[in-house]
Amino acid sequence: MTPEQLSSKIRTIPDFPKKGIVFRDITTLLQDGEAFAAALEAMTAPIRALKPDVIIGIESRGFIFGAPIAATLGVGFVPVRKLGKLPAETISVEYDLEYGKNVLEIHRDALQKGARVVIVDDVLATGGTVAGTVKLVEQLGATVVGISFLAELPVLGGRKRLPDGIVSAIIAF
Ligand code: AMP
Repeated sequence: MTPEQLSSKIRTIPDFPKKGIVFRDITTLLQDGEAFAAALEAMTAPIRALKPDVIIGIESRGFIFGAPIAATLGVGFVPVRKLGKLPAETISVEYDLEYGKNVLEIHRDALQKGARVVIVDDVLATGGTVAGTVKLVEQLGATVVGISFLAELPVLGGRKRLPDGIVSAIIAF
């Protein structure tokens, strides 16, 4: 399936969750088994080449892509979650969203020092969420070797807030 075909499976909802936001709804891609499998395959190939030790998925849509990619590669999956969801000792970071502010957490013992980490999420918008996640990984002494999205929204300039040369997306809107 080409990027254009994948792109056509994503539904666009204007003014969600508030006025002025053009929301890219991946649920229409997920409900199409062929498209979901093709999206995972397209994301997995470049990640495999990075030889990661761990895949991080960002709550909650990052889990949908990150967990199957980790299982396919036979590496661990680590969730980064919203404040108050993780049960053991955590570290946290505050970050800006396209539509608000939030706090993300990771378990303090989730990553080995020096581990090669690939961060996975569905959509790169302003990059605030992923920039926060990069900080969490670095605080734990691990290394971000890749950041992978199904789709990016280039007009929002998210790549500028992320490390150079390690960001990839299958689709751009
Ligand atoms: P950001 O931190 O601005 O890059 O936003 C990241 C998260 O918010 C991603 O995990 C997306 O799932 C979600 N998000 C932000 N803006 C949009 C949008 N316009 N369409 C779909 N998802 C979005």
